[in-house]
Amino acid sequence: MRSNPSSTNKFTLSSPLEALAMGKKPSVHLLTLQGAGMRTLEELLWALPLRALPLPQVRPFNQLRLNELFLGQGRIIHKEIRPAFGRRTKGRFLLFNAYLIVQELEGNGTIALRWFNVYPNQKKLMETWDRVWFLGNAQEWRGQVQLVNPKVHILADADWASGLGDWLIEYPTISKVPGNFTAGLVAKLPAPFWQEIHSEYGTDELHPLPLSQAFKVLHARLPAKDMTAELRKDAEERLAYEEFFVDQLKIATRRRFIKKKAGPHIDEDKDAQAAFLKLLPFTLTDDQLKAVDDVLADMRSGHPMMRMVQGDVGCGKTVVAMLTALSVVQAGYQVAFMCPTETLALQHAETLSQYFGKLPFLKPALMLGSMKKKERDTVNKALVSGEANFVIGTHSLFQESVAFAKLGLAIIDEQHKFGVEQRLQLMGKGLGTHCLIMSATPIPRTLSLAQYGDLDFTTIKVMPAGRKGIKSRIVDPVNYEKYIDFIRQRLAMKDQGYFVFPAIDESETQDLQNVKEAFEGYTKTFPGTRIAMLHGKMKAAEKDATIKDFVAGKISILISTTVIEVGINVTNASFMCIYHPERFGLSSLHQLRGRVGRGEKPGFCFLVLDSDISPAAHARLEILEQTSDGFVIAEADLQNRGEGDLFGVDQSGVVTRRRVADFHKHSKVLEKVYQDVQQLMRTTPEKIDPILIRLARDQKILDTI
Ligand code: ADP
Ligand code: MG
Repeated sequence: MRSNPSSTNKFTLSSPLEALAMGKKPSVHLLTLQGAGMRTLEELLWALPLRALPLPQVRPFNQLRLNELFLGQGRIIHKEIRPAFGRRTKGRFLLFNAYLIVQELEGNGTIALRWFNVYPNQKKLMETWDRVWFLGNAQEWRGQVQLVNPKVHILADADWASGLGDWLIEYPTISKVPGNFTAGLVAKLPAPFWQEIHSEYGTDELHPLPLSQAFKVLHARLPAKDMTAELRKDAEERLAYEEFFVDQLKIATRRRFIKKKAGPHIDEDKDAQAAFLKLLPFTLTDDQLKAVDDVLADMRSGHPMMRMVQGDVGCGKTVVAMLTALSVVQAGYQVAFMCPTETLALQHAETLSQYFGKLPFLKPALMLGSMKKKERDTVNKALVSGEANFVIGTHSLFQESVAFAKLGLAIIDEQHKFGVEQRLQLMGKGLGTHCLIMSATPIPRTLSLAQYGDLDFTTIKVMPAGRKGIKSRIVDPVNYEKYIDFIRQRLAMKDQGYFVFPAIDESETQDLQNVKEAFEGYTKTFPGTRIAMLHGKMKAAEKDATIKDFVAGKISILISTTVIEVGINVTNASFMCIYHPERFGLSSLHQLRGRVGRGEKPGFCFLVLDSDISPAAHARLEILEQTSDGFVIAEADLQNRGEGDLFGVDQSGVVTRRRVADFHKHSKVLEKVYQDVQQLMRTTPEKIDPILIRLARDQKILDTI
């Protein structure tokens, strides 16, 4: 028998969405969805419903409950359909508001139905209604219980309600295509299609709940009696598993290809290290030594290093970086030290310059975005020729125009300001360049799994001895004067400190405004005190001069936007006063306060509120009064803000798809995925290799490194 057209029409996950046009010309809505990235039936499946409500039985009117879906039958006894005042669509259609009352067929009960902004054709239809089915959510409006925008159908159609199925399913609007349209597409998927859904990553072998079942549950393709809240939760976790699995495979791919590449072989140069250590006024902590060992071991391995050294502000990461850089330079390679801000680059250049002269094999250079083209060209030449072998800089270091003779090590300070892409770009400037990333924001485990699984980690836990530590206090408006008195006392003791204002994204001008006003105000409050400003609009040379004056003790208070957030190191500074602290993440506040209390003097951090804030916001800040453990603080931040805020993860991607996996909510799932992927790579690489190779191509990872 020849098959008829519909049975040859076999849908698979990779079938184009157009297949659902069933051979007809695809509708505008369908084309819009395709254009928005929903190209295949798989993508359609991932456009999950916002909610699915079980359809109720037909019930007597007196069982109507607020905020519940109600299905009834009745006769319309009253109709008011009036033009919606002042509402015209495209100047052509007049829209209407409708108010209808239905009465129970057997009995006197009535229910009000209300619609807003209905089209003329719908109005015409309404005028014909008499005995009807109706279905809607009961709401209270101006003291009256009514169904707003209910579905209505004529009662003569006896099967209508049974044809509704078990569920009322609501899909999201995507690129202005109404959810109903998407629902219609999903409804066209034949039963065998649902049966045959399987993970293209083979996760159905790893997870007890088949992917097909998870999609069925979340798209409400089950009889209502079989659905439970637990099943929905399991289904959601199953999809989270799938999403995490793909992420983890990508991370694993990156790691694998990096680890297969050859990297410069760097031998430890003990003499150079000894020469440097002799110049330091202190000895390294055990954790610092361990970090140096980890880094040197990586660089000896013959493969590119990808290591993150994390440790609280002030634990001494710079020294670790320097010490390891020496061996790289001595092996004939170049080192790039990349900082997230110019201020920090300048500060590093400044502190390190005292050593450069005494370590003749180091040939330093500085590269900043704000430098004139001519200056940059000069630095560039020195890097291409290899004349300079240690360059400090900002993002400008990985511009295309910058080339190195022999880049061996890229050091990235305060990593979370740089994305993965940028990291790869910088590494791409050398052959198998080693990468050392330093972070003062401790990375909680879930986050490190989710985003940094391709890195090796070293954690510096101990602080150098002799630190006096730091006290933190919230200054509520009532205590403002007391706080000012305290600062006065510290100034009298020749202390220095910072007043910091948050950056407000939309308007740099506003930031500047805040800083300027504070500058003028505090100049009056503290007469005879030298106060200076530091902000993003200043030229590098001006910033440099200001910082130098501050370091030299010529300035007592530095009023600044968050440009000082990272890295400035002035041991005499004892107070850090942060204004509008409620606008900062806890980790940022923690980093900021790490600028003080670094030397002999104890540090003070004031979180200055200029108005009362919510108890929840206050409680959040109190965490800083209570603990100085960066990990605890980072975790609290995660609880409060979620990953997107903290790390600015890429939100682009396909607009049609709402991500299910949330590494906080599904941290257990993530942990399991991580273990499973590791296990697979160890035990059955033949299963996973083909997928990794495909992903590597997709990610273009083979080209970038
Ligand atoms: P971070 O880890 O925040 O980058 P830095 O590298 O800037 O910290 O170090 C902070 C300060 O501590 C610097 O002044 C540095 O010279 C000093 N320092 C680093 N290691 C030690 C140590 N082992 N003992 C005493 N002081 C140290
Ligand atoms: Mg640092």
